[in-house]
Amino acid sequence: MLSPERIMHRCDALARHSELPGGLTRVFLSPEGRAAGDAVLGWMREAGMQARLDAIGNAVGRYEGGHAGLPCLMLGSHLDTVRDAGRYDGMLGVISAIECVAALNSRKKRLPFAIEVVGFGDEEGVRFGTTLLGSRAVAGTLEAQVLEAKDAKGVSIADALRDFGLEPKDLGSVKRKRGEVLAYAELHIEQGPVLETEGLAVGVVTAINGFSRLRARLRGVAGHAGTVPMGLRRDALAAAAECVLAVERIAQADPELVGTVGRIEARPGAINVIPGEVEFTLDVRAPRDDLRQKAVSSILHAIEAIGKARGVALQTEKLQENGVAACAPWLMEQMDRAVAAEGLPVRRLPSGAGHDGMAIQAIADIAMLFVRCKGGVSHNPAESITAEDAATGARVLSRFIESFHAVPS
Ligand SMILES: [Zn+2]
Repeated sequence: MLSPERIMHRCDALARHSELPGGLTRVFLSPEGRAAGDAVLGWMREAGMQARLDAIGNAVGRYEGGHAGLPCLMLGSHLDTVRDAGRYDGMLGVISAIECVAALNSRKKRLPFAIEVVGFGDEEGVRFGTTLLGSRAVAGTLEAQVLEAKDAKGVSIADALRDFGLEPKDLGSVKRKRGEVLAYAELHIEQGPVLETEGLAVGVVTAINGFSRLRARLRGVAGHAGTVPMGLRRDALAAAAECVLAVERIAQADPELVGTVGRIEARPGAINVIPGEVEFTLDVRAPRDDLRQKAVSSILHAIEAIGKARGVALQTEKLQENGVAACAPWLMEQMDRAVAAEGLPVRRLPSGAGHDGMAIQAIADIAMLFVRCKGGVSHNPAESITAEDAATGARVLSRFIESFHAVPS
């Protein structure tokens, strides 16, 4: 029997492993991360799994299929958090998956494949500024030089692994081969308001959106706020304001598109000086790469025109780009059926946030199930879900697991 009380109780229990008194902050390879990992390994063993910490610090549990050594259906999410986090982002997926295995184990039921549950040690990238370390190690896409990345105190990932009792040289043992993993499925809170707005408990994810990040610099002419007439100004901040609105207008043109100017800085930044130079960032995301690329080029075109019309020089720089991680149609169909079997409407939606599946996709097809969260709020202590929705999510995941059949790729 699936127990929603136990799921909620365990999310509360993990939230107590925090470096932030009275709040939740748990970063990669920290003492709190160790305590959370140990708790999870204990729950995995209780659910009939063989459990261990792998060489990057992921908590890994394995429930054998009809006979030992079969390829696995991998389930999981992450156990690290952002600073001053909520208690469900990541943890709910790991705990729900363990609950599903416990239900199988209580019936002594074995499936024609193994199940592995992974609590990834790092997804958020808070400590070392580089994300998905746990899942990239599993996918074998973690380059050796990443281990030299340092935290704010100057400790490298390699040293942090050693301090944690792990050996960086063993990292290769974490890597899984294509074929060993039949598919990867992750339950996660939505982190957005769509399901709540539509009155739905769960949704089937179509893709993890790709993103483009850029920086733009506008150079006008600084001048005296009192003496330069309006018609003779080349105000970089006024130009940037027009650019921000252009980003908003272009992103609004397609419901699948989002565009954000999250940071802006004007120089010299004085009340009585016309801003001569402005720098702002741009973040564009979409569930289709062509849509995102088209939006980025429209935005660049628009802000160039704004700069030209105002006599303000424009310079742009690409910071980071990541393509869409599409969920596999054959897995989405199986997830749809699991939702429908619970008597619920099937709602498909893209994920605006990044997830471990982006990395695991290098070795296996991926699927995701979203669970409604209150107000769409995440990365915030106010993050909240109901026990009823946790129960619904676990029931759908359980149906997905128990009726899962691998489609040969
Ligand atoms: Zn997450």
